[in-house]
Amino acid sequence: RKKLVQVRNLTKTFALGKGLSLKAADDVSFDIYEGETFGLVGESGCGKSTTGRTIIGLYQPTSGEVLFDGLNVHKASAADRGKITKNIQMIFQDPYASLNPRMNIAEIIGEGLQLNGLYKGKERMKRVVELLEMVGLQKEHANRFPHEFSGGQRQRIGIARALAVNPKFVIADEPISALDVSVQAQVVNLMKNLQREQNLTYLFIAHDLAMVKHISDRIGVMYLGNMVEMSTSEKLYESPKHPYTQALLSAIPVPDPDLEKNRERKIIEGDVPSPINPPSGCVFRTRCPVATEVCAQKKPVWQEVDTNHFAACHLYQ
Ligand code: SF4
Ligand code: MG
Repeated sequence: RKKLVQVRNLTKTFALGKGLSLKAADDVSFDIYEGETFGLVGESGCGKSTTGRTIIGLYQPTSGEVLFDGLNVHKASAADRGKITKNIQMIFQDPYASLNPRMNIAEIIGEGLQLNGLYKGKERMKRVVELLEMVGLQKEHANRFPHEFSGGQRQRIGIARALAVNPKFVIADEPISALDVSVQAQVVNLMKNLQREQNLTYLFIAHDLAMVKHISDRIGVMYLGNMVEMSTSEKLYESPKHPYTQALLSAIPVPDPDLEKNRERKIIEGDVPSPINPPSGCVFRTRCPVATEVCAQKKPVWQEVDTNHFAACHLYQ
């Protein structure tokens, strides 16, 4: 399969002043194959949004590189840059904050078309209506304003805006976290259907594994700027290798009460340490129930622990 996105040893450090710095992403590497959904999961502050924002070019990497369709996102020529910006679009977490309240829906969705010089005149309005219908809204909605819509509808508008220019790749940064639970599944299903129809590739960012379960083909788990585990969804849910992933999974409630009763719940103790002053060795060691001495001394190496299943943990080294 074709690698549409290649993230290579991406490190992003933010200077905070007074000699302090924050390593938001630390040597992160992964590929996203054309047509798949790659789920990127971790608690807030783990670096998942920074990684997404660096891939789309909003941030310059401190070191490492990102390739999109073979082009270096941060070093592309002006001509290639245009190709990249058209083909990578973003869906945001907060559908309330991400839509300009003074623009009507036709203007919001049409903005990208205008910027890219696509669908001029009457054709543009036709395209807007087509997009509205694609996301389950109607023609009549085109002249309304964001405040007239529910959270779920606003996220549909956000999706229509992202898809307006026919991108190949969409980064969805916690697209369902701000929505009611009852609406979350609808938005995920819409995204899945659109993926099939439009041959889209997704990076789906979320803060817990339950949210990415039904959409991801493969999943990467991040903790304190580091990728700690990556595999197919199936393998990750069935046999998680990293103690952090195991803890995240055991925190997801099971619908069957009998199963729930007999289940061993691994509660992750303590808070995430400050990324300004991360622990030595393994970044997870201050909260890891099976940490040993070596975990404080040596950083575990990222390696393949099973076929297509990667983890960074001394238990497997
Ligand atoms: Fe736990 Fe050590 Fe593995 Fe880190 S390397 S997850 S501290 S066992
Ligand atoms: Mg975030």
